Amino acid sequence: MASVLEIEDLHIRYKTKNGDARAVDGISFTLEAGEYLGLVGESGCGKSTIAKAIMGILPPNGRVAEGTIRFKGTNLVRLSQSEMRHTRWRDISLIPQSAMNGFDPVYTVKRQLDEAITAHTKMSVGERQARIEQLFSMVGLEAQRLDDYPHQFSGGMRQRAMIAMAMVLDPTLVVADEPTTGLDVIVQDQILQRIKEIHDRLGKTMLLITHDMAVVAENCDKIAVMYGGRIMEYGGEDVFRQAYHPYTLGLCNAFPDFDQRGRDLISIPGVPPSLLDPPKGCRFHERCPFATAYCARVEPPLLEVAPGHVAACHYADRAAEFRIQAQDPDT
Ligand code: ATP
Ligand code: SF4
Ligand code: MG
Repeated sequence: MASVLEIEDLHIRYKTKNGDARAVDGISFTLEAGEYLGLVGESGCGKSTIAKAIMGILPPNGRVAEGTIRFKGTNLVRLSQSEMRHTRWRDISLIPQSAMNGFDPVYTVKRQLDEAITAHTKMSVGERQARIEQLFSMVGLEAQRLDDYPHQFSGGMRQRAMIAMAMVLDPTLVVADEPTTGLDVIVQDQILQRIKEIHDRLGKTMLLITHDMAVVAENCDKIAVMYGGRIMEYGGEDVFRQAYHPYTLGLCNAFPDFDQRGRDLISIPGVPPSLLDPPKGCRFHERCPFATAYCARVEPPLLEVAPGHVAACHYADRAAEFRIQAQDPDT
């Protein structure tokens, strides 16, 4: 049976006045049914671009230059706008950033859920009402709030309603792009718990995009670490416990106990590479404490370092030594 999501050698460019920005530059990963993948990386590394490409909502200056995004075997890159509209929400849905969730302020939340159901199904009025009540209960919203307008909800409640919207047509794959940004920590936990319940109870395949490694460590069963438009390390929970890539090690070192929610990942010295003119060789070499002249010349391929675990570093076989040095740079 085909995987739920199979991304192969995906390249996405944004046209800018200074040239093409290579926001995603040769990314491959697969999500099997029921898997929960966490995608982490610093701001600007291309996470949301992947989400937008999966949803078919890249902005007009963005395009898939190469590669495929297969959903249950169908290449979404080849679909027409109208075919993609059919797939969006029904097969794949998006939980967007809480700060920019997509409710129209002039209609009640219930009406907006109802319109989404009407547009895609032939449910009767009674069936739609029952479905909306079920969705409200699933995300922990009280039924008496059904006729409220979005502005009558708190930020956390609006985000719960947004999760209900993402689930309205019972999609196979749910993409959540920074779903808790801007919410306070307690509400963040509640929202992430709801998303995890959807994964655990309903068996949904999920892609969670975040800056927050603690969130990924707690919630996800697969982890992808992105840097400068590429995946640097990918695998199960060992990606954080037994990291092989110096970039992942740097991130883990910045979050020693995974207990500092909400901190930005920019605690590794230096800045991410330019996407207009990415550095030759390993993209991380300008910031890597272990870089050699060879790293600056030759790009490392993503190779298996342990079963089901890949990393793109020429010196992945020295990871044990790197781990010790990353913890104590003075040794
Ligand atoms: P963040 O964590 O801040 O949300 P991200 O990893 O989601 O970052 P993207 O939004 O995917 O990053 O952006 C990847 C790169 O593409 C960035 O360098 C960004 O500046 C650039 N980019 C994004 N959207 C556009 C656009 N519409 N036009 C030109 N460049 C863009
Ligand atoms: Fe560092 Fe070289 Fe490995 Fe890149 S290939 S992460 S520069 S050691
Ligand atoms: Mg983003």
